[in-house]
Amino acid sequence: MKKKLLVIGGGFAGFWSALSAVRQSRELKKEDELEITVINMDEYLTIRPRLYEVSLEGLRVELNKYFKPLNIKLIIGKAEIINPEKNQVTVATENGSRMLAYDYLILSSGSVLKAIDIPGIEKTFNVDTFNGAQKLEDHLKQLAGKNFNGEGAATFVIAGSGLTGLEVATVIKEKANKILADQAQKPIDFKVVLIEKAEKVGSYYSTEAQNYVIETLNAKDITVITGVTLDGFSHNGATLSNGQFIASQTVVSTVGLVASSLSSFFKGEKDKQGRLHVNEYLQLEEHNNVLAAGDVANVPVDDKGNSSIMACQFSMFLGKWAGHNAVNALFGHALKPYNYTDYVTCVDLGQQDGMLTTGWERTLLSSGIEGKTIKMEVTTKLIYPADDVQTALEDSYPEVPNVSQNAV
Ligand SMILES: Cc1cc2nc3c(=O)[nH]c(=O)nc-3n(C[C@H](O)[C@H](O)[C@H](O)COP(=O)(O)OP(=O)(O)OC[C@H]3O[C@@H](n4cnc5c(N)ncnc54)[C@H](O)[C@@H]3O)c2cc1C
Repeated sequence: MKKKLLVIGGGFAGFWSALSAVRQSRELKKEDELEITVINMDEYLTIRPRLYEVSLEGLRVELNKYFKPLNIKLIIGKAEIINPEKNQVTVATENGSRMLAYDYLILSSGSVLKAIDIPGIEKTFNVDTFNGAQKLEDHLKQLAGKNFNGEGAATFVIAGSGLTGLEVATVIKEKANKILADQAQKPIDFKVVLIEKAEKVGSYYSTEAQNYVIETLNAKDITVITGVTLDGFSHNGATLSNGQFIASQTVVSTVGLVASSLSSFFKGEKDKQGRLHVNEYLQLEEHNNVLAAGDVANVPVDDKGNSSIMACQFSMFLGKWAGHNAVNALFGHALKPYNYTDYVTCVDLGQQDGMLTTGWERTLLSSGIEGKTIKMEVTTKLIYPADDVQTALEDSYPEVPNVSQNAV
């Protein structure tokens, strides 16, 4: 009987896990003894890092373009229950509930936007999922249909100034004006308000990079309100924790990510984002046939106490390692320790502007048009699988690239 490798999630980590598993099973001449199944909520690898962009075109890659020729089975559904004692996963599909058994499991169900318990949260928008980004775009189209007339219609409030908050804040005016142009209407001078709980935006950057961000927000006429949180949202505006009311019909929440709740089915310590701690082979210490990869895993990356971040540069490589190691474990071969230590951040800061930082101190490396060009190179090329299936398969080998060197 074939061994069953089950992968939950078809994002960056799950996609590369599945391809790497095929590649390694071929390498070990065990392809005929292995069945690989991926469970994902839809048919796509969603390029989440681009969901804030002006256009949503090309932000989804069809999984079966790669999976079908490689004999990877894709089940569209939601994994709801994992029973690690019985090696079973219960999946809700369009045709009802299904129970899937596994010999080895890769958990790569990613992350979701942190829920905040405030009145009107359901009326806020997000760019966390493709559907979320589409909903925001449809809403802007609706407002554009009335030329953004009405109280607060031309004001956008962005809650949270992490990297995604910065991207939404610096791009949303361009997005709204593009929608107006598509409707043959003139551009509008929109107002953007960025609110942040900390006393200063960009506190996660080095001083130089932080100053660059603050200057850019200023130059782009984005109002920054710090030391406050979003307390509520009604159809006509946002209320802040300091009592201030901002008339707006569009509030976008970018308050951070937490790991998929599926991590709760496993024993063992979790970090403050709900991620599972894994060892250097990406295994869960308490479950000998489960690996975690991507945003759901906390992997130590060096001996200075740094661990992986919820980011593609980790998720893609963790996936490549996970598929490789799952196959080696299933067929009695030595596992490969994860050894990717490089760390960069690339942020889009709107028209003609972006910023690249390097290292855990997030030292400024490039900004302006150069920063933007690098950011676009990364997000429109480097994080996509090669168009050709065979090349993508070869690219799934777990090896250490040097992102900061490649990016500059
Ligand atoms: C707006 C935005 C901007 C970002 N910008 C950057 C950036 O500039 N650089 C960077 O490196 N990273 C960025 N990130 C983070 C990056 O997108 C994530 O780190 C990456 O997507 C994580 O990959 P993953 O495979 O772990 O999870 P995901 O990409 O989240 O994929 C998880 C998959 O699992 C599926 N899934 C979840 N639960 C279940 C379930 N119960 N059953 C079945 N399927 C399930 C989901 O539908 C999804 O397809 C950004 C994220 C967002 C939202």
